[in-house]
Amino acid sequence: MNFFIQRSELRDLYEKVVAGERISDADALRLFESKDLNALGAIADFVNQRKNSRRASYIINRYINYSNYCILSCQFCSFARKKRDADGFELTVPQIVEKAREALKLGITELHIVGGLHPSLPFSYYLEMLSALKALETEPQPALASSPENAPRPASTKLHLKCFTAIEILHLAWLAKKTLVETLTELKAAGLDSLTGGGAEIFRKEVRSKIAKGKESAEEYLEVHRQWHRLGGRSTCTMLYGHVESLADRVDHLRQLRELQDETHGFTALIPLAYQPEDNEIPIIHPPTGFDSLRTLAVSRIYLDNFPHLTAYWVGLGMKLAQVALNYGADDIHGTIIEEHIFHMAGATSPQLQTEADMVKAIREAGRTPVQRNTFYEPLKELAGSQPADEADQR
Ligand code: SF4
Repeated sequence: MNFFIQRSELRDLYEKVVAGERISDADALRLFESKDLNALGAIADFVNQRKNSRRASYIINRYINYSNYCILSCQFCSFARKKRDADGFELTVPQIVEKAREALKLGITELHIVGGLHPSLPFSYYLEMLSALKALETEPQPALASSPENAPRPASTKLHLKCFTAIEILHLAWLAKKTLVETLTELKAAGLDSLTGGGAEIFRKEVRSKIAKGKESAEEYLEVHRQWHRLGGRSTCTMLYGHVESLADRVDHLRQLRELQDETHGFTALIPLAYQPEDNEIPIIHPPTGFDSLRTLAVSRIYLDNFPHLTAYWVGLGMKLAQVALNYGADDIHGTIIEEHIFHMAGATSPQLQTEADMVKAIREAGRTPVQRNTFYEPLKELAGSQPADEADQR
């Protein structure tokens, strides 16, 4: 038994997890309230290694925000702008395609595309964007810029289009004057490969009205993902933590995700998002602490026994904490990203991008085996494992 668990107040929950029993909401709250972070991490690491062994993944991807104009004004949001604002923007389809074409030279396998709820762009703009990006798959692929250890480009060069949050999908259905299922079907036919998990925030109604009044309800968020999963699609999901919610609200949020996953098995991963406090209307001064982020990742890993993966999102955590999180239940540190607006407009101090070499190094130092993954967390390329201790010690 792990040294940290032997005398821990959480030992009974460790034994429950080892026996393969599902932990209850009350158990999850107890885990959240515990100050025994080492034991909590050890339990989460046990769960993670049982699912993913000692592999930790990353993806080579690019973010594109097609516009930050939005008809809503969620209180926590630092990204949205109105047409009158000088720093609002919107991209044409050719501009988006050019950004994607440039990123293909870096070996990306995924485009992650979201925006605000634009006041006037027609539904045809979104279909055209998807089709134009999909057409890039048929262009001759450029030679790759440098890659760690001269690893070859993965066999799959499919450009996966991971686009739109649940609220954007509802907005597009309204624009198209179609049902949710009809809208998702049409987007899929145009090239949509999977949905992003953004917009979940915290599901509890009372919290939602304080941070994202006017946004879709929890039921609507879950219904978009449910219908997408029923169409054979997969998606990630998120939880925005560290603002006005309670620990019980976090458990309630995780419970609703676990229930939908029991029903559809369509989620690939949870991506907990550390709240960033700048330039918005929420009266919180500091982002979540390292302690809070690690315990949130760890409890998520233990509670979501039906989720295959858990991502430590370096944009919100910083790469240093994301690296540590690989020993607190996370098995993924997300991607290269290249250009990020949403967190940085809210005060994130992390860089705009990570190189593949930096992510591989971070994973190895954490004692894990780096794996480049695709959007579905399937391995594309496995690199040699962690560095020998003496090599790491010489630095
Ligand atoms: S969170 Fe999304 S829906 Fe809300 S204001 Fe920001 S961009 Fe608009």
